[in-house]
Amino acid sequence: MVRPICPKCHSSEFVVESRTGKKVGTGVGTVAGGVAGYTGAVGGMEAGAAIGSFLGPVGAIAGGAIGGLMGALVGASAGGAVGYKVGESIDEARMVYVCNKCHTEIQG
Ligand SMILES: [Zn+2]
Repeated sequence: MVRPICPKCHSSEFVVESRTGKKVGTGVGTVAGGVAGYTGAVGGMEAGAAIGSFLGPVGAIAGGAIGGLMGALVGASAGGAVGYKVGESIDEARMVYVCNKCHTEIQG
């Protein structure tokens, strides 16, 4: 990848791609995934309770708790990964670079 030259330092040495979109995407994705994970948690709880119910009422409660936790965790981590990829695409589309020396933003 060709890096643009900083208009201030006239060097491409300190110029790096801006990762703002990735950071934002990961954060938003984790939150969105967490919300989706809640739906997954409810589904996981029902599935866990159904499995646990074979072992009696205690099994149903334990199964529901484990299933709910699993669903929420899977949702949040998957959401973060998706958000990162979305943010990466946005970063690439924006083509924004930042000079690490003088903090000038460069439109590539
Ligand atoms: Zn610079």
